[in-house]
Amino acid sequence: MKVKTRFAPSPTGDLHIGSIRTALYSWLFARRYNGKFILRIEDTDCERSKSLSVQSILKGLKWLGLNWDEGPYFQTQRLDRYKELIEIMLNTGNAYKCYCSQKEIEKQRFKQISEGKKPRYTRVCRNLKIKHVSKKYVVRFKNPTSGKVTFEDKIRGKIIFDNIELDDLIIQRSNGIPTYNFCVVVDDLDMNITHVIRGEDHINNTPRQINILKSLNAQIPIYAHVSMILNENGKKFSKRDNSENIIAYYKKGFLPEALINYIIRLGWSHGDQEIFSFSELKKLFNLDSINKSSSSFSIKKLLWLNKYYINNLPVNHIANVLKDYMKNENINIEKGPNLKFLLNLYKHRFHTLQDMVSSFRLFYEEFESFDLQSADEYLISNNIYILKKIFNRIKNLSFWKIEMLTEVINNQATTLNIDLKKINMLLRVVLTGKKYSPNISSVMFLLGKEKTLLRLKKAIIFIKNKIYIQS
Ligand code: GLU
Repeated sequence: MKVKTRFAPSPTGDLHIGSIRTALYSWLFARRYNGKFILRIEDTDCERSKSLSVQSILKGLKWLGLNWDEGPYFQTQRLDRYKELIEIMLNTGNAYKCYCSQKEIEKQRFKQISEGKKPRYTRVCRNLKIKHVSKKYVVRFKNPTSGKVTFEDKIRGKIIFDNIELDDLIIQRSNGIPTYNFCVVVDDLDMNITHVIRGEDHINNTPRQINILKSLNAQIPIYAHVSMILNENGKKFSKRDNSENIIAYYKKGFLPEALINYIIRLGWSHGDQEIFSFSELKKLFNLDSINKSSSSFSIKKLLWLNKYYINNLPVNHIANVLKDYMKNENINIEKGPNLKFLLNLYKHRFHTLQDMVSSFRLFYEEFESFDLQSADEYLISNNIYILKKIFNRIKNLSFWKIEMLTEVINNQATTLNIDLKKINMLLRVVLTGKKYSPNISSVMFLLGKEKTLLRLKKAIIFIKNKIYIQS
């Protein structure tokens, strides 16, 4: 059997962690068994489907490297095929037209509830002999009224539903558009899907879909329903959780390698191993090791993994990715040090690429203002002479090396009899605008002579202006 899986999002919003995990499991399973992975956009809910969501889904999958072998198929482009099968089902007696109006259905429901019964369609039209040619109708599937539907879920084991519990499902709305459960069945059948891997919220649809497949004499795929992911408060994810949109992770500076590694571990394990490369996952992934219980999202863990990948992927690769982030922030990297230099010196400090961008900006552009508190503490008249001395020493340097810059600073601390820590802090404020920065000689080195002198001068002028205003 040639494995064929699919990812079938409804484009009603952005991709979130849960749907990405389903896509990832389906993708990996296909890759592991040299099968095919298809992408299908389930867009028959015209009111809620948005083309922007389609774009964002495609973008998210591409960014994560989850490439598809077929598709994207759009259900709205397959309406003729669904119609054709509905006709066949009507002719073979597997489906029937139901003329009950919404009002009548409501009435039936109300009656059932008031009699203490479970509300469901009463099947009044199931055996209708007369056809109401001019009346509006929906098409319903003739679900068996006895027996059971049993399937062996790859994650949850045997699942059994009594047919008596299942309604005669609407498979075509009164506007002629087929419904979700029907389209899924036809597509899984036509696309020869062997394994349906999806969220546990679809478990209740499965017996209905199996019954329709059986009525079409189709092969029943293997099902695997993946458990929920809970947010950090142990609750179901809501729109407000920052996990909503996968593109938001890109924007925050997460690497796809980290995100994939993080998501795969939300419910799947291979011993105690934490770090997995793509190629390793393609060899190891299996459905049997997916956990039945729900898993919890932890941003701390994701940050840890991102830091790991920032530090362990080749520096050339990180520099290339970072380049785009810098460009998106309108930072001209031609106007400062080579990114690889910066990465080699500082990458161990960062959890995300976006944090890097914020910190590296100062090497390429002048910062706008000094941090107020730092300026109050360090940019004071007593420090002008220290800055002037350092300015002159640096101006006269004929080589630009980190060791020489360290020596200049150390020398000044000794000759002026000032605590070295204090000079370092002062220079941090002067050169970066804040009290926190990497080692200051390396900052000077990367800024280059011209920018270093300019910033020293700027700080001296700033202090002088402050004194002038105060006097
Ligand atoms: N379109 C459905 C959803 O986005 C998935 C259907 C399926 O996987 O069978 O939840």
